[in-house]
Amino acid sequence: MPIVALPQALDAPVSALPQVKAPDVKRLAKLDIATVRDLLLTLPFDWETYGAPTEVVGLRDGQQATVVGTVTSISAKQSLRRRIRLTEATIRDDVGAALRLVWFNQPYVAKQLHNGDRIAVAGTVKSARFGAALQMQNPHYERLEDREEVKPTRVGGLMPKYHLVEGLSSRKIARWVESALPLADRVEDIVPDEVRDRHRLIGVADAIRKGHKPETDQDFADARRRMAFAELFELQAAFALIRASIAAEPAAPIAYRQEVIEAFKAGLAFELTRAQRQAIWDAFKDMAQTVPMNRLLNGDVGSGKTAVAAAAAAMAHASGMQSVVMAPTEILARQHLHRFRAYLEDSFPGLTVELLVSGQSAPERRRVRAAAASGHCALVVGTHALIEEEVEFANLGLAVVDEQHRFGTRQRELLRGKGSGRPHFLAMTATPIPRTLALAVYGEMSVSVLDEMPPGRTPVITEVIDPDERVRAYDIVRREVAAGGQAFVICPLIEESETLAVRSATAEAERLQTEVFPEFRLGLVHGRLKEKDEVMQRFVAGEIQVLVATAVVEVGVDVPNASVMMIEGADRFGLAQLHQFRGRVGRGAAQSYCLLLADDPSDGALQRLELVARIHDGFALAREDMDRRGIGELMGPRQHGLTDAAMESLRDPALLDEAREEIQRLVADDSGLDRFPALKAAATRRLEMTSIS
Ligand code: ADP
Ligand code: MG
Repeated sequence: MPIVALPQALDAPVSALPQVKAPDVKRLAKLDIATVRDLLLTLPFDWETYGAPTEVVGLRDGQQATVVGTVTSISAKQSLRRRIRLTEATIRDDVGAALRLVWFNQPYVAKQLHNGDRIAVAGTVKSARFGAALQMQNPHYERLEDREEVKPTRVGGLMPKYHLVEGLSSRKIARWVESALPLADRVEDIVPDEVRDRHRLIGVADAIRKGHKPETDQDFADARRRMAFAELFELQAAFALIRASIAAEPAAPIAYRQEVIEAFKAGLAFELTRAQRQAIWDAFKDMAQTVPMNRLLNGDVGSGKTAVAAAAAAMAHASGMQSVVMAPTEILARQHLHRFRAYLEDSFPGLTVELLVSGQSAPERRRVRAAAASGHCALVVGTHALIEEEVEFANLGLAVVDEQHRFGTRQRELLRGKGSGRPHFLAMTATPIPRTLALAVYGEMSVSVLDEMPPGRTPVITEVIDPDERVRAYDIVRREVAAGGQAFVICPLIEESETLAVRSATAEAERLQTEVFPEFRLGLVHGRLKEKDEVMQRFVAGEIQVLVATAVVEVGVDVPNASVMMIEGADRFGLAQLHQFRGRVGRGAAQSYCLLLADDPSDGALQRLELVARIHDGFALAREDMDRRGIGELMGPRQHGLTDAAMESLRDPALLDEAREEIQRLVADDSGLDRFPALKAAATRRLEMTSIS
C-alpha cells in the first residue's frame, strides 16, 4: 500500500487512505478524526456479539445469531425500480437447512463469496413473509478455511461498533482501519515503558491491533484500558504544562490581613457558612503566593459563591490591587454589580465597584475605562467580551469568572495589568462536578467546593406530574401568578436542531397565551433571540409574569419573585440540569414549586424524576446522573474533551489517580516534559485542539 511508504504517513489526512472520499473526510472530522493516527487511535466502543453458531432450525424472527453454512447460490442483480443493487445468496447449515442472505448495495460481496464456500454470517434474523425462508439482511460475513472451527469471540468480533455519524458505517471504518493498520507500529507510545510496566498496560501498537481486531474479550478490554489510561495521562500532562506556564510568570502576592476579613464579615447581613469560610481561606492562601492562584469554586446555585469572590476582591484591594469580575450575560453582570456593592462598599469606603457592559452609553463606558486604567476603581464587573477587548487596569490583581465553563490561559493573557504580572484567577461554577471529573477535566485548577447551603432556605417543593394531569400544573402556575408571583415554563430539550426548538417554544408560548393563561402577560426567550437580555430584564422587572424558555436560558439569573418552575419534557434533561432549573426559583421568601412533566411517562422515566423531587443536593443528583447516564452527560458534549472510553474509565477513580501520580512523578524534575517528546507533543496537540489552553 503506497501510504505505508510515506514518512509522515501517520500525520497524513485520512483522505490519503484508499477509498476515503471527500464526504467521508467531513464525516470523520465530526468524530474528531482528521489524520491516519486519529483513525488508528479511535477504537470501537463495542463489538457486535452474536454468540456461538446456531443451527437454522429454531431461529426466530428478530434474533441476533451466528450461522455457519455452505454457500449454495449467490448472485448480484440490479433492482431497476428502486435502483438498488441486490446481492442474494443462500447458505445451508450442516443439517441442510437453508438461510437466505440479502445485501443491499454491496455488489462486491458476490465477488468475494462463491458457491461451495464455507462461511460464518452474523446478523438479525427476519422471517420475510409467511412461509418464506428465514433471512438475514446485510449480515456480517467471514469466509472460513475448510475445517476451521468458529471461535465465538471471533465471530462476535466480526464487526466492531464505532461511533458513527450519518453516512458512515462501522463496516466502512473497519475497512479504512484495516488499510491503515500496517502503520500501527509507527505510532509513538506516549506512555513511557516503566509507567506501562507499573500499571500492566499494553503498548500502543498492540492496543491498536487488539482494539480494532480483538481475538478475545480480554484483548478488547486490555486495549480499552490502555487507551483510556493514555488519554487521561495525556490530559494530565496537558494540565501540567499549563501549570508550568502559569507558574513561569509570577503574580504579585496579596498578603493576608486579618482586619480585612473582619471588616468584610462585619459588613455582611449574614454569617458566612463553614463552606464559604473554608473557600475564602483557600483563596487567601493561594493569593498570598507568587504562583498565580488558579482555583475553581464549585457550589450549588444559591450556595453563596459571590460572597467568596467579594472577600477575595476586598483582600486584593487592601493590597492596592484591582479586581475584575466577568459574567456570561449583561443581566448577570448587573446583578453582580449590586451584590458586590452591597457586600463591599459600606465596609471599605475607598473601594468603588463599577459596571462595564455594551448596553451602557459611550461616555459612561469611557468613564469606567478611565477609572480602571487610573487604578481609581477597585472592582470592575462586566461581561466577558467587553473586558477582554477594551479594559486596561493600572494594577490588576484578581480575575473572577462566573459560569464560564472554560477560561483558558490564552484569555488570561489578555487580562494583565500594566506592570504587574498575571492576576490571580478564580472561576465559579454551579455545575456540580464530582471529584473524579473535576480532577480529570479541570486538572490544572485547585478546587474549592461549597457543599453547604446558607441556613433558612425553604426547599422548593418538587412534584412529578403525570402528563395527563397537566391541568393541575397549570392550576399551580395560575394560583401563584395570581397571588403576585412569577413562573418559568421550560420547553423540552430538542437536541437535533435549535431551529426546531425555537419553533416549538414559539408555538407553545402562543398556545399558553391564548388557550391557557389569557389573563397573564407571557414572554418568550430562546437562544436565537436577539433581545434575550431585554426579555429577561422585563421578567426581572415583573412586567412578564410567565416566561416561556428553551433549555438554553442563562443560568444564575436572580428573580426573587419567581416561585414556579414548570419543566416540560423533563425526562429529556439530566438530573443535574433539572436541579439547575429548580435553582432559579426559591430565591425569595415565598414557598416555591418545581413541576416536572415527562414526555415519556414510563416507570423508568418517572422514577428518575422522582429522584429530583426527593434529593435537593446538586452533587448527589450529579452522582446519580453519572451512574445512570454516564459521566460525559454531566458536562454536555465535548466540553470535557475526553472520549467516552476515558469518561467511562472515570467511574473507577483508580485509573485517573494512577495517571495523575505518574505525571506528577514525571514533571517533578522535568516540568516542561522535555524528556518525553511524544507525550509533550500529544499534550500540546490536545491543548491546541480543545479550548483548555
Ligand atoms: P450563587 O452565586 O452561589 O448561586 P449567590 O452568591 O448569588 O449564590 O447567593 C445567593 C443568595 O444567598 C444571595 O442573596 C446571597 O446574599 C445569600 N447568601 C450568601 N451567603 C449567605 C449566607 N452565608 N447566609 C445567608 N445568605 C447568604
Ligand atoms: Mg452566582
